[in-house]
Amino acid sequence: MATMPDPSDPSEQTCSCGSNVLTRLRCSRCGKPICPRCMVASPVGYRCPECARGPRPAVYNPSTSGLVKAAGIGVVVSACLGFFWGSYPSWGFYMALLLGFGVAESVAKASNYKRGPELLALSMGCVFFGIVVSRFTIAQLTPGLALGLLLDNPGDPFLRAVFYLRFIPDMLFMAISLAICYVRFK
Ligand SMILES: [Zn+2]
Ligand SMILES: [Zn+2]
Repeated sequence: MATMPDPSDPSEQTCSCGSNVLTRLRCSRCGKPICPRCMVASPVGYRCPECARGPRPAVYNPSTSGLVKAAGIGVVVSACLGFFWGSYPSWGFYMALLLGFGVAESVAKASNYKRGPELLALSMGCVFFGIVVSRFTIAQLTPGLALGLLLDNPGDPFLRAVFYLRFIPDMLFMAISLAICYVRFK
């Protein structure tokens, strides 16, 4: 292991991490001074934190044009599926799966099957948008549902009934849609 100081440069230097520690250790990749506090063990010796991290794998590195395309397609798909969900609210479970997978797969395809935090946030934002569309569709198309909910649970807040936001099952279904994105892009 390249943990011993380089014999050609045996001088003690202050560590590059800013800790003021004097060290003879060098990063095995870039040669910067490293100290026991900041060095990272790797299969090819001790490295500085930057070299240990390495470049981001390509699949976690979506292009800007891919992100823009994914956002555009994601918004359209989520609006359509949200409207569909709102039109058939009693199929909530299947609609949640449809919204989650529909958005996740179209965003994935538009971004050329990349992953990572940007696409995760983007897809979750689209799913959330689809959920909002579905709630407004319900409030518009089927006010009878809200009336039924209010009669069954007179104590429920009015807005919760209008937007069909029961904790179980509706909000659970929404969580399923979001979880699908999480699994797909994390
Ligand atoms: Zn380094
Ligand atoms: Zn250090």
